[in-house]
Amino acid sequence: MRKADKILVVGAGIAGCCAAVALAARGFNVRLIEKQAVWRFQSSGIFVYSNGLSSLRDIGVLDDVLAAGYLIEDGRNVYFDHQGNHLVDVFYPAADDGRVPAILGIKRAELHRILTNQLTHFRLSAELGTTVRRVKHIGDSVEIELSNGSIENFDLVVAADGLRSQIRQLAGFDVRPRYCGLGVWRSVHDRPADLRDKIMMMGPGKRFGIMPISADKLYTFGTIVEPEGKWYDPEVWPETMAAKFQEFEGPAQRFIEELGSRSEVLYTAVEEIVMPLPWHAGRVVLIGDAAHASTPFMGQGGAMGVQDAVILARLLDSDNGVETILQAYGEARGPVCRFAQDVSRQVGENGAASANQSAADNDRFRKTAQQNVDMFYNKLSELSRSAQSVVADTVGVPAS
Ligand SMILES: Cc1cc2nc3c(=O)[nH]c(=O)nc-3n(C[C@H](O)[C@H](O)[C@H](O)COP(=O)(O)OP(=O)(O)OC[C@H]3O[C@@H](n4cnc5c(N)ncnc54)[C@H](O)[C@@H]3O)c2cc1C
Repeated sequence: MRKADKILVVGAGIAGCCAAVALAARGFNVRLIEKQAVWRFQSSGIFVYSNGLSSLRDIGVLDDVLAAGYLIEDGRNVYFDHQGNHLVDVFYPAADDGRVPAILGIKRAELHRILTNQLTHFRLSAELGTTVRRVKHIGDSVEIELSNGSIENFDLVVAADGLRSQIRQLAGFDVRPRYCGLGVWRSVHDRPADLRDKIMMMGPGKRFGIMPISADKLYTFGTIVEPEGKWYDPEVWPETMAAKFQEFEGPAQRFIEELGSRSEVLYTAVEEIVMPLPWHAGRVVLIGDAAHASTPFMGQGGAMGVQDAVILARLLDSDNGVETILQAYGEARGPVCRFAQDVSRQVGENGAASANQSAADNDRFRKTAQQNVDMFYNKLSELSRSAQSVVADTVGVPAS
């Protein structure tokens, strides 16, 4: 018999929505609360690589996501120097013998629409404008006081409330976001019909990327060193982004020149959550960015949150004790998330350190780029297989 049935999921971002769906699909009694009274999205677009798409298939939304986003089926990422000279083409892997494509760009709002729509298949929806005031463990249950004053008991609380997780703090974890020294500037543009590639440009201490996110839109992202605590008035974001990346030519130039007061631009100072295991305290468990927010340079944060959700639901659907399950969850997910986090941080730091981006740097990059991508995805697959073994050992069925 399952030891936890009534579950509160706090936060309806990617991780929380996926957890609610994965749990509801296994027949758990789920409630999902979300602090925002009205949906707002901190960014326009997101990449999802094949590992993330595989997990979205587990959630039952792969077809919808593929239909709504922009697919780069062969996984080609075209690299240029900042003057627009071609450096190399690198190919990201598909998954499941090509049944899951390599890279998808999608509007965040679209991904969210699909996930919240999936909730409705289980008669679920996020309770908006709702948060937690108090968390108290009482025996085998958690007493929660919600922001509307109601008090309810749950067998488990899943904290999917992001980088600045309030539940993490209420549950007693002493972890704070760590600034990584880099800022990311993002902008949205109409997609010219002939722009079909994922593009990365290697500049002096800077990077500039371009990614289609739908039939009609693309987004760009520039990364650059920024002092800690630096604040920019959103009013000046478009002109500031244009100034910071003005030396980028080639495919970037038209989008940088397009930036103006009416442009959709977003600045984010990059932070991470690096947290040792365990990722649970009593019957409160952290998933997604609340447990392991990563720098964005490998585009893996969302995928990691979806995988957390899928694996946690699978582990809970067993007759093990809750402590055993939550230990296994950390053991399965910790090494995968830490690896993605470490590589991503390193990629960001390498970009910032290449102040000259010399011909020799470009040459080295040309020779190693494909190998680095292959090594990353091979290691990620190996760690994911180990994670599946932990799950299989815990629930007592063969790994799938
Ligand atoms: C610049 C940048 C670019 C990125 N690009 C990519 C990419 O291309 N691909 C990728 O996979 N990942 C990317 N990421 C990472 C990705 O955005 C995150 O990993 C992912 O959104 C985390 O999802 P989450 O659900 O864990 O957290 P969040 O998205 O932060 O969601 C948390 C939710 O909880 C709610 N909430 C917060 N506090 C409370 C509370 N107390 N009570 C109730 N609700 C609460 C919030 O309102 C929010 O809806 C990027 C990140 C950055 C910063």
